[in-house]
Amino acid sequence: MASRLRPLVPALRAIPRTARLASIQSPAVVARRSLSLKSFFTTRKPKSDPFTSQFEPVLEPANLFHPLSKSPLPPIRTKAEWIGKHGNCPVCKEHTVEEKKAPVFECPDCGYPTHCSEEHYHMDKENHKHVCGTLREVNEDEHDLRSGRHLKEFEFPGPQNRDEAINMSNWDTFLYTRGFNSMNSERSMRHVSHVLTYPLTIASVLHQASPYQLGKDLTVEGLKSLAALRHTLHPPVLPGLTQSQDLRVKATHTVRIFCLGARAESHLPPHIYMQLAYLFPATSFQLHFIGPDAIPPHTKSKESHQHVHYEQLTFVYDNSRYEAYHAEAGPFNPYYDVFFLFSPGLAHPATKDMWKPTIPLLLDTKCAIFGTGFDEQDVMNDVNEIDSAGYELDWLMKPRENAFRSLKHEVNLTDVRQSAQCNWGIWGIRGRRYDVKSAE
Ligand SMILES: [Zn+2]
Ligand SMILES: [Zn+2]
Repeated sequence: MASRLRPLVPALRAIPRTARLASIQSPAVVARRSLSLKSFFTTRKPKSDPFTSQFEPVLEPANLFHPLSKSPLPPIRTKAEWIGKHGNCPVCKEHTVEEKKAPVFECPDCGYPTHCSEEHYHMDKENHKHVCGTLREVNEDEHDLRSGRHLKEFEFPGPQNRDEAINMSNWDTFLYTRGFNSMNSERSMRHVSHVLTYPLTIASVLHQASPYQLGKDLTVEGLKSLAALRHTLHPPVLPGLTQSQDLRVKATHTVRIFCLGARAESHLPPHIYMQLAYLFPATSFQLHFIGPDAIPPHTKSKESHQHVHYEQLTFVYDNSRYEAYHAEAGPFNPYYDVFFLFSPGLAHPATKDMWKPTIPLLLDTKCAIFGTGFDEQDVMNDVNEIDSAGYELDWLMKPRENAFRSLKHEVNLTDVRQSAQCNWGIWGIRGRRYDVKSAE
């Protein structure tokens, strides 16, 4: 079996990131690229970095809208230049014109370079109306993030009091019941959801307060798999401990979360994943980020395997071939191990073949496997790909909208008519178990 499994990672590695971007002009790729949060949390603090000039506000809340090319913030002007070079004017693109020109005319309402000329802008205005509001929102959000104001919404709560009941129905109830600074604007919610979508997507599936219920979203097999994991994640209160005692010091169970093809999720600083850990005070976690783009935040090291310990979390970043990694990390146990594939692109022409040898390995473990996609089409492409491959598997979670998707829209800079939301949808599968042995 193993002999016909081709390496995943070298194949991915062979395609430089920029080449992949150029060859796949889908919102996913742009979304994934711009989702890198490394710069946001960097400890480097050059004076010119607007993220870090928190004590010298450069933009007032009423002054967040700027045409991209006239933004007071250099990174946003750079974006306008990029669109001017690599973007498409939809009128030129879809009609026969002698020369297809890049968009340099900026819509006065959203500030994005949308068309090659004012003339083409007016010809296409009715269509543009459908995306103009979203683009305006993104424009102001990005200026706000870099405005230099004190970003109070990013001051996250610490350990959870065991008496607190968490409601994970949606972002609102979660942030409120978990004691986050009150989000007094939808913009703050978008900022926070963008940063927390990875740890909270994981937590919202695994936690006993999960919004996903049997019958509605979960299959019977899904409930069985999650019950096994929750057995480990939510052990009964130990005798002799009061409710208010912090159980983290007693964490005796380790759950391993494997994120394959990891990108933006590996670039988040460790403290962001503490928001996952706080929800499971009796559990320690190993987070394994595997893939050529799995790189720890704040590092200059080129080591292909790195460990970081942070309170009850151990982070492993590994750039080796998945089969090699799989062989070393095994054996796997459905009570302790779970896989997450964030926007894997299982059906995408550029990545499809690279996943083919990996999926059977994951199914063999009989551990739960969850995946996400950046919009409905992306999710359904992955789901149809899995369905048509003829694997022996059970669906754990029917594809559905992810309650903890990023609320922020990521604009496809090669075609600003398209946008996506990180972890928009979610699904779950597991290799089929045969509990009843046939008589021989
Ligand atoms: Zn044009
Ligand atoms: Zn517009």
